[in-house]
Amino acid sequence: MARLTRSEMKGKAQTVLGLLDPAALGSTLFHEHLIWDLTPPPLRKGPVPPGVDTAHWWNLANWVDPDIRNTTQRDVGIATRAVAEVIEHGGRCIVELTIGGIRPDPEGLAQVARATGANIVMGCGHYVHDYQDPRNAERSVDELAQEMVDAVQLGAWGTNVRSGILGEIGCQWPWTDLEKKTLAAACLAQQETGAALHIHPARHQDHPWMLVEFLRAHRADLSRVIIDHIDRTIFDDDRLFRLADAGVILEWDLFGQEGTYYGLADIDMPNDGARIRDMRKVFDRGHGEQVVISHDICHVIRLSEFGGHGYAHIYKKVLPHMAKRGFSQDEINRIMVGNPKRLLTFV
Ligand SMILES: [Zn+2]
Repeated sequence: MARLTRSEMKGKAQTVLGLLDPAALGSTLFHEHLIWDLTPPPLRKGPVPPGVDTAHWWNLANWVDPDIRNTTQRDVGIATRAVAEVIEHGGRCIVELTIGGIRPDPEGLAQVARATGANIVMGCGHYVHDYQDPRNAERSVDELAQEMVDAVQLGAWGTNVRSGILGEIGCQWPWTDLEKKTLAAACLAQQETGAALHIHPARHQDHPWMLVEFLRAHRADLSRVIIDHIDRTIFDDDRLFRLADAGVILEWDLFGQEGTYYGLADIDMPNDGARIRDMRKVFDRGHGEQVVISHDICHVIRLSEFGGHGYAHIYKKVLPHMAKRGFSQDEINRIMVGNPKRLLTFV
């Protein structure tokens, strides 16, 4: 397959099925996983039967009783049914950020896209240190950057399926040298491809600002960098507004996840109402062009087929609630259609 040039891609979006007029993308969930493996690599012991034992739903949801079946979703049929539900409720496009370390399946995503008609935009790059291929330690910034450029222009992970966005580039706390190298590579790949860049910040409230400084030093286009997981990272207005003023895109992407007993960090997880209040503050400060939302589903219990809220939750519950809490239809369209379209268009 031939390499696409920058000029061929400029002004277009790219789904797993090819280049697309961005006007056709439609309403977009900006950060999801459809086929993934979030099981820590040392615990992976071969294939896992699909689904979870839903009798243990509450325990799984509250991290009482971890189960690797809950962190593994490899089934194209399950993903297809889940995406069909989004289409049925008015969604059109899903940004799928399963990347190096959490077992991307580009061909599987293409199958889901063909079966459902959804626009699926795939990420590239590498997740947090503990999940990265240990061989990445020996690779240079340029090699890692070239791998991302190739994913966008040529095909990802040995397939002909191309990525339409960079990331989610993973960072943990403390932030490791390997992760800094990977992010420096992503900044180069952004300059080379004109793609937007998703970053999974470390679980520390000051890390997003460290990212801003790093991105400036590496000459990234901050207006096309998405800081993911604001809802589990930032808990005060000062830090939130400072980030917004820096010009990065803010992503509330844990919609539907409301439990207090979050197992991955010692935080009080906001509920959807609190997320909407924070987004309102950012809009009222004049940063409505910098907000995107999603569910970041990466646990099986969150799929509707296994008793969860599913990928249609934003359409079924969140958008109507936003309208009740003072968001105009125009503002909702900006979050779901306008901002994603701008960010998914190669520059
Ligand atoms: Zn994610």
